[in-house]
Formats: sequence, C-alpha cells, structure tokens
Amino acid sequence: MTTRQSASLVLGGETEQSSRGLLRPKVPPDADDTAGARDPEPLTAMLSLHGLAASRGYAIGRAVVLGAAALEVSHYRVADDDIDAECQRLTHAITVAREEFARLADNLPADAPREIQGLLHVHAMLLADPMLAQEPLTLIRERHYNAEWALTAQGQLVGEQFAAMEDEYLRERATDVQQVIERVLQVLSGRSPLMLAGAGQASLDSEPLVVVAHDISPADMVKLRGARFAAFATDLGGATSHTAIVARSLGVPAVVALGHVRTLARDGDQLIIDGEAGVVLVNPSPKVLRDYRDRQTAYAAERADLARLKDTPAITLDGIRVGLQANIEWPDEAAAALAAGAEGIGLFRSEFLFMNRRDLPGEEEQYQAYAAVVKAMAGRPVTIRTLDIGADKALDDEATVATNPALGERAIRYCLARPELFATQLRAILRASAHGPVRILLPMVAHMHEVRASLHAIAAARESLEQNGVVLAPHVEVGAMVEIPAIAIAIEPFAESLDFLSIGTNDLIQYTLAIDRADPDVASLYDPLHPAVLRLIANTINVGARYGRSVSVCGEMAGDVSLTRLLLGLGLTQFSMHSQQLLDVKREILEAHTNALRTKVAAVLNRAEPIDPSSL
Ligand code: PEP
Ligand code: MG
Repeated sequence: MTTRQSASLVLGGETEQSSRGLLRPKVPPDADDTAGARDPEPLTAMLSLHGLAASRGYAIGRAVVLGAAALEVSHYRVADDDIDAECQRLTHAITVAREEFARLADNLPADAPREIQGLLHVHAMLLADPMLAQEPLTLIRERHYNAEWALTAQGQLVGEQFAAMEDEYLRERATDVQQVIERVLQVLSGRSPLMLAGAGQASLDSEPLVVVAHDISPADMVKLRGARFAAFATDLGGATSHTAIVARSLGVPAVVALGHVRTLARDGDQLIIDGEAGVVLVNPSPKVLRDYRDRQTAYAAERADLARLKDTPAITLDGIRVGLQANIEWPDEAAAALAAGAEGIGLFRSEFLFMNRRDLPGEEEQYQAYAAVVKAMAGRPVTIRTLDIGADKALDDEATVATNPALGERAIRYCLARPELFATQLRAILRASAHGPVRILLPMVAHMHEVRASLHAIAAARESLEQNGVVLAPHVEVGAMVEIPAIAIAIEPFAESLDFLSIGTNDLIQYTLAIDRADPDVASLYDPLHPAVLRLIANTINVGARYGRSVSVCGEMAGDVSLTRLLLGLGLTQFSMHSQQLLDVKREILEAHTNALRTKVAAVLNRAEPIDPSSL
C-alpha cells in the first residue's frame, strides 16, 4: 500500500506544489521517463493522487463524478421529441413515491411513534404540491432538463426557501424536501442504472467510465453494479471496507482513501486508476498514458498466463493439499468462481440480496437465489452466510441508527431478534440443500447461547419443511464466523458444537485493534500482521484441528497474496477469497513448503513486533 492522501500536480513536465503542499515526483513511480525526450509534453496539468489499492488492475477512462449523495443524478438535455415522455417519467415517479408515503403512513405497526405517521403524511403532501409536482415539468418543457436535473434544481430552490424561513417548524421542512426528492430520484434511478453515467456516456462514445465519489455505500455499489463502470476512485474507504470488497467482486480496479479525488477531478477528465499501487492520475500526459497502456497489456497477459493454473490442484511442495474456495455477493458470480477453478463457495454474503429495496426477499425468492448457486456449483459445497446486516451494510428501510452500528444489533444479533425473518432465510437455505451440498454460516457470533438459539431455529425450520413433505439434504453443516476476538480466544465450545469455523479477518482485525475498517483516517493502524491478530488466527486453527473441524479464512487476508505463506505457516489449509485473487494465491501455494513455513512462523509468532511476511 502506498502513502495515502497525497496529491501532486505536474504542469508541462515540471513538478509543482500540490494543493496539500506536498511535492511528488514528476511522473508516477516506475513510469517511463525516457519517452519524454521524444515527445514534448503539452502544457496540461497532470494530477497524481495517492490512496489505498482496494482492487487490482489498471483502468483508463473518463471520470463520472458523483456528488455528495452517492445516488447522484445525470444532467442532460432532452430532445424535443422526448419532452412529453420525460414529463411523464417524472410525474410517474412522483406518483409512485407519493403513494408509497401514503401507504406507509396508513400501514404503520401499532407501536410505531405517532410522529412518523405525521411525517409521512407531510412527505406525501409535499409531493402533491405544485412546487414539486408541477414546477419541474416547466423546467423540462422550457429548458429541456432531464427529469432528475429538473427535480433537483427545483428542490434546491424550494429547500432554500424553507431554510430561510423564520418559523423553526417550517425551516426544518427543508430536510423533508431533500428526503422526498431523494426518494423520487430512487424511483427514477430504478429505471436504468446507466442514467448515472448521463450525458458523459453519450458524448464520450465508448470510452470506459470511472466512478469518482466521496464515498460509495455498499448499497449504492449494488446499484452501480449493472452500469459496467471500468473502475472506482473514492475519497473515503479502507482496503477491507465493503465498498472495496464489492469492487473486487466486480473485478474492476479501485483506489480508495484518496482524500480529495472528488473535488480535484472533474466530470469528463481522463483518469488512470492504478489498482496495484493505489494511485489515480488525472489528465495524464501522453507519455504516462502510453506507459499505463503497456502495463494494462502486460497485466492482461499475466492474467491469461495464470488462467492455465485453473485445474491444477493446490498442493504445496511438501504435498499438503490446500482447499481454495470463492467468496461471492450475488448468485451470478458463481460462474466467475468456476472459471477461476474454485472448489466451492466459502462465503456467500447473502445480505446483498436484501439491500436497495423496501420489501425483504421472501422465502421463494431467496430459495431461487441460493438454489441457483448450488446448481451452478454442481456438487461443490456452497457456504451461505445468514444475513449479516448492520454497520456499513444497512437495509434501505432501517428507521433506527444505532449509536455505534459496528457494535450494535448486527448480523446474528439482528436475526435472532427477528425470528420470522431468520426462519424465512433458514427455510430457503435448507430447501436449496436439495440441489447439492450446502453449509450454513453464522456471522458475528460471540456467545454460545447464540449458537444454541441458531441451531434451534435451524432445527425448527427443517421440521416445518419436512412436515410439509419438502425434500432436503439429510444433514446441513453449520459453522460460525470467527470475527469477534472473544470467540477466537475461547473457541473450544464453538469448535465442539459446530461443524466448521470460518475466520472473518476483516472484522476480527477491526474488533481486535478497535479500528473502523471503513475509516481512512485510521487505515494505517489496520494491521493484519499485529501479533494479537495472528495469535487469534493461530489459536482458532489449532483448536479447530484438535476437534477435527475444518477452519478456513474468508476475510480479505485469504486473498492477499503477500500473506499466503504466512497463513500456510499458521497451519491454514482452507482459503476463501474473491475469484479474481484465487489463481495468484494458488501460484504462491504451489511454490510453498508448508513444513518450513510452519517452523519459521512458530519461531516469530510470540514476538511483540509485527511479522514481516516477506521474510518468510
Ligand atoms: C470478515 O469480516 O472478514 C468477513 C468475511 O465478513 P464481511 O467482510 O462481510 O464482514
Ligand atoms: Mg465480517
């Protein structure tokens, strides 16, 4: 990882002081400096920003800069012939949102606070008011604004009017205007995620597009998923934040924690995203561009070369067989897992099925999603993690915000507090077991009573299905994520009562070191090599072996090729990672000698200082 949040400006080949007062080299590290003699550089500014490499590879494309709200809108001129349709599009979205508010207000649970009902009625009324329902249509007709543009422009005006009012109650309505507009924008965006690219896409032909944003929540990443962006660059985020994880699952390069990329890059700027070094170059010189095109080509050739290892079993030089499985967020990623030679799905983050929607997926919808993966994996095991919602992965409709969501009602705590929701998911998973080997993985477990309650819920779900004559696998393995230090330390009863353990190093590091994994300000303290983290991993592996349980690592450490030898030295023989990383890790395993690594790691494990993995 490179130095974070520094920027440099290269003007006509000279180094200038950046906006953050840092001097950087004229060209990025390793860029070919000799070509400059052949091509005089035009007098354009090239900016180089340094962040955290979150997803590998290189991309060259045009910036699509998203605003403060990640769900940013496009701005484009609507053609004469399309004006009527655009007006209808907006009117329809406003009607959908208004009816939704009214319906919600009328169907609130009995124990919901009364103010919520009042607020929902206010929201429905705001959308019925001509200032939001009619004025934007005038902007579409007279100025040819697209619906999103017209709505946000008018919304800003109305919001400012409210904010300037003397009456405190009316002043506060500015926030309500903002909220109802965001809801209408969501309805509009449901039509086509590509709208995000807006005019940029039309005018820039087929050049790849790079999303530039302050931050992108995992939920917004899901929306961007269908839009086929070539890369992501964000001000915030850590290398193991869920945003970074989603970028890896999309197989596109990403650099996060850049500090000011959203303010320094403009819409349409040419960008190079270097997902290897964690660097973003804005408006690169022709020489740098050439250098990066070469790197892109070399990278693609290396990937093609690696692909030849797909069917080679992962066996170390001393004959230890290592299992390599894939992490997925969506069912259609099973194909990429198979293409990378994964021997199963080690982690299916089921919560992504639940995000960006107002309703929850029912049993049938979930069953279809899980069964699709199980069928696609054709007999290979599929580990489905039960809903891990909370912290940075919030449901769309969550009304309450915990004081500290990472320590709040997250994951298994959330599910056990909502027995019906949990039972629905368990039934869907169990039904999928009829199509092939399925394992249930419980997230964020800290207490044995959570295990007992979960096993009880699984047994009850099975019983209710069997009573209805539904065919299921006779046994479905149940395991727990080891991601809270408490269970990694006192792991014995968990190893005894569960079938398998899976170490979620992303959260294990977060909770052991008290570092928010998504906060760039403390990213430098997020250290997988901290002796405490390694000892927790070692303890879990050793106790698991004693009880004859399979132990895997499914956090991002498993896919970090610089840590493969260290994990082998800790005794790990099961890895699960994004498909994109699988063959790099396999190559490392094929060249490793486990016995030698185990001796070396044992010798340094009890040291006070972090281990240097490159010394192994
Ligand atoms: C982890 O915490 O390491 C993990 C795999 O789960 P997630 O990243 O989804 O929290
Ligand atoms: Mg986790």
